[in-house]
Amino acid sequence: MKALRLEAIGDLFVREVDTPSPGPGDLLVRVEACGICGTDRHLLHGEFPSMPPVTLGHEFCGIVEAVGKDVSDIAIGARITGDPNISCGRCPQCRAGRVNLCPALRAIGIHRDGGFADYVIVPRIQAHEIPLSLDPVHGAFCEPLACCLHGIDLSGIRAGSSVVVLGGGVIGLLTVQLARLAGATTVILSTRQAVKRRLAEDVGATATVDPSASDIIEAIAGPAGLVPGGVDVVIECAGVAETVRQSTRLARSGGTVVILGVMPQGEKVEIEPFDILFRELRVLGSFINPFVHRRAADLVASGAIEIDKLISRRVSLDEAVSVIAHPPAAGEVKVLVVPDQA
Ligand code: NAP
Ligand code: ZN
Repeated sequence: MKALRLEAIGDLFVREVDTPSPGPGDLLVRVEACGICGTDRHLLHGEFPSMPPVTLGHEFCGIVEAVGKDVSDIAIGARITGDPNISCGRCPQCRAGRVNLCPALRAIGIHRDGGFADYVIVPRIQAHEIPLSLDPVHGAFCEPLACCLHGIDLSGIRAGSSVVVLGGGVIGLLTVQLARLAGATTVILSTRQAVKRRLAEDVGATATVDPSASDIIEAIAGPAGLVPGGVDVVIECAGVAETVRQSTRLARSGGTVVILGVMPQGEKVEIEPFDILFRELRVLGSFINPFVHRRAADLVASGAIEIDKLISRRVSLDEAVSVIAHPPAAGEVKVLVVPDQA
C-alpha cells in the first residue's frame, strides 16, 4: 500500500509499505479521508515531538476491512472515525479521568502509523462508528471537532453567553459553531483575512472584526464596543502571542479565557497577574479531546455542523507532501487527503 512517511525530521515522502495486519483488539481500516492539520507541518519541521519513521495523519475516517482476534462488536464494512490519542489507562492521571494528561500518551499519526495511507491500524477502543450514509470527508472532521468540543465544555458557555473567538482557521470556525450550539447568542470572531470573516458569518458568527484594521479591545470591549465591558468567554484559537495578549483584555470581570491555540514551546507572552486577580478571570488550557470523540462524531453525523464550507481542497497522498511542506495558501481552511484519488 502507499503511505506518506515522515522518515526523519524534514524528510517526508510517499512510498510503498507492507499493508499492516490487525493484532488482537485491532481494526484494519481502509482510509477514506484524512485531514491535514497544522500539527503535521510542525511534525515535519521537528517543532512537535514525534517518532520517525512514522506514517503521519491523525484525523482519519474509513471502512473496517478486517478485525483482529477478540474483536466481535464491530462489523466488517462499518465506517469508523478514530480517536488518535491512546492513553495508558494505569497512571494517576488516567485513573483520575484526565486521560489527555497521561504522560505516556501516544497518538496514531504521530507516534505510530497514521491515516495518510491506504490502510491504518486502529485499536477497537479508539474507533467510533459513524453512518455509512455520511460523506467520509465529513468523518475526518470528528477529531478536530472533538478538540474544540473539549474547549467548549471547559468554557462553561451557557444559553445567552457572549463569546469572542480569536483566529479564523478550522479550529476557530468549528468553535464558533459549537459556541452557538452551546447557547451563546453573541459570538464574535477576530481574524485578519476577509474571506475567513465572511465564512465565519456564514457559519454562525454574529459579528466579525479585523484585528489588523482596528483596536479590537476597543471595538469589542470598549464603552462603545460590541459588548461594553467584555464578553463572558474568550476562546483563543490562533496560537499567536498577539491573540493570547488580547484574550484576557476581552473577557469581562469574572469571565473565562480558554487557550486552545498552540504557541511554540518556550515562547512567552506578557500577562498582568493583577488583572487576572482583580477581575477574577479564569484562564484555562484545553488540550486535545478527552472523552468527547463520541459526541463529536454524533454532532458530525447529525449535520448540525457546517463542514462543506470549511473544505478548501481534497488532494491525493502524493499531492499531500507539498501541501504539508508549505504554509497554508491564503484563504485556505482545511485540506483533506483522499488516498484512493487518482
Ligand atoms: P490555522 O489554520 O493556522 O488557524 C489559525 C488562524 O489564526 C489563521 O487562520 C489566521 O487567520 C488566524 N490568525 C493569525 N494571527 C492572528 C491574529 N493576530 N489575530 C487573529 N487571528 C489571527 O490553525 P487551526 O488548524 O485552525 O488551529 C488553530 C490553533 O489551534 C493552532 O495553534 C493549532 O495548533 C491549535 N490546535 C489545538 C488543539 C488543542 O487540542 N488545543 C487541537 C488542534 C489544533 P487570518 O490569516 O485570517 O488571521
Ligand atoms: Zn490535528
